[in-house]
Amino acid sequence: MIGRLCALTMRAPRHQTLMFHRVLKQADPMLPTEPVAGWFDALIGQLSRHYDCIPLGEAVRRAEAGELSGRTLSITFDDGYADNFHIALPILERHRVPATFFVASGFLDGGMMWNDRIIESVRRLDDGQLPVAVDDDRPVPQLGDAASRRQVAEQVIVAWKHLPPTERQRRVDELVEAGPPLPGTLMMTSDQLREMAASSCAEIGGHTRTHPILTSLDDTRALAEIVDGKRDLEAIIGQQLSWFAYPNGKPGKDYAAQHVELVREAGFDGAVSTEWGTYDSRSDAYQVPRFTPWSRNLDRFSLDLARCHYGLI
Ligand SMILES: [Zn+2]
Repeated sequence: MIGRLCALTMRAPRHQTLMFHRVLKQADPMLPTEPVAGWFDALIGQLSRHYDCIPLGEAVRRAEAGELSGRTLSITFDDGYADNFHIALPILERHRVPATFFVASGFLDGGMMWNDRIIESVRRLDDGQLPVAVDDDRPVPQLGDAASRRQVAEQVIVAWKHLPPTERQRRVDELVEAGPPLPGTLMMTSDQLREMAASSCAEIGGHTRTHPILTSLDDTRALAEIVDGKRDLEAIIGQQLSWFAYPNGKPGKDYAAQHVELVREAGFDGAVSTEWGTYDSRSDAYQVPRFTPWSRNLDRFSLDLARCHYGLI
């Protein structure tokens, strides 16, 4: 079945880009949508057999030279989780598949993004009532088994997502302080990033310093986030960055036309969004779309990749 689908995908020269955030050592009820190591290993094995897995820059080069052909695919990771280094990279290296890792530099060495601080706090709090209010309208939720904790974390994330950043920070701090200390090992360290950058299977990309939604900033601050993130990472790895990923990444919502220009101005060669789609010679190299099927069934995963290729997703 996979062979047949892949044969179909050979008809049009379009490049596909997958996006991941994490690869877990084992299943985690608090993170039910994140892939685990065994599955990721099987997936990369399958992709390496059926696709020409290439870096993003090579896809753009081929598209611009009119040489994009066959089944080509790029792998990307966003944010800079430590499991990218410990789990994903060795699997990619074993299959000799390259990937671009987009890292928000401000969370390296012990940091944690606001949504992860909520998840990791809710995971560790004692059973009973959540120690803070989610919002003014709802009763304070109860924490119990893993499923209830997952639900509460999701509810808090949704409720606080669009608060002004300082207000959100205050609420998250209050929640975190009500529970046991959080681990400082969720994101990569500078040393891990440096070691990752030395791998022939890894390219490091920019993802701002603190992962703000660019449309929520004025242009001066947006440019500073893009440039500071780039400089931070370049200073650590001793290499120039070529690629950027827009935080959250939805065009027109999370970034706008002026941010595409700012990314170009900052010296990047290209950028990826989270718009679903494929890349071809007519596409904008500063807005390469990405699509990742969510099924954990590998046949279904391949089918959805093919559907995306044909614009059916
Ligand atoms: Zn991100």
